Amino acid sequence: MTAAGHLYAVPDQHAPEPPLSEVQRDVLSMVFGFAIDHLAEGSFCADCDTLAEGVCSDHAADQDRIGDFLALARELGIEVVS
Ligand SMILES: [Zn+2]
Repeated sequence: MTAAGHLYAVPDQHAPEPPLSEVQRDVLSMVFGFAIDHLAEGSFCADCDTLAEGVCSDHAADQDRIGDFLALARELGIEVVS
């Protein structure tokens, strides 16, 4: 029996490297956190109050964007700290 088959590492056989390093994920977690905080800040206005939907189109767009950010963060495996 020979060990020849074990002489060469075959990196592709294992789970793929995460696309982002831990440091990059930390930074992106902060970026997402800041962006979401910024959008969520004053996320309602007088117009929102007068509408049956409870949110004006501007703020509805902000909420959509927050949803997009959270979805992207989840996709990248990033936990958003805010
Ligand atoms: Zn509004």
